[in-house]
Amino acid sequence: MTRKAKQISIDAKLCKGCHICISVCPHDVLKKSDDVDDRGYFLPVVVDLESCKVCHICEMECPDFAISVEEYEE
Ligand code: SF4
Ligand code: SF4
Repeated sequence: MTRKAKQISIDAKLCKGCHICISVCPHDVLKKSDDVDDRGYFLPVVVDLESCKVCHICEMECPDFAISVEEYEE
């Protein structure tokens, strides 16, 4: 059985656009959005879900508990 990422969610209400999740991800799964939100933040977006190794580092390092990685086994 292999653990894989089913979905990575960023809570747009909690996220402050600090980009810590982007910088700590060892597999370049996330990147900064090209679009600014209505608070002036560039939220992270998922660009390569397939490369996620479900290490959960992004969740652990997010200061605002704004990102969550849902996993499954196959
Ligand atoms: S670390 Fe958390 S608050 Fe910072 S950009 Fe990522 S999801 Fe948003
Ligand atoms: S769980 Fe790990 S590999 Fe997946 S996005 Fe977060 S830091 Fe990157």
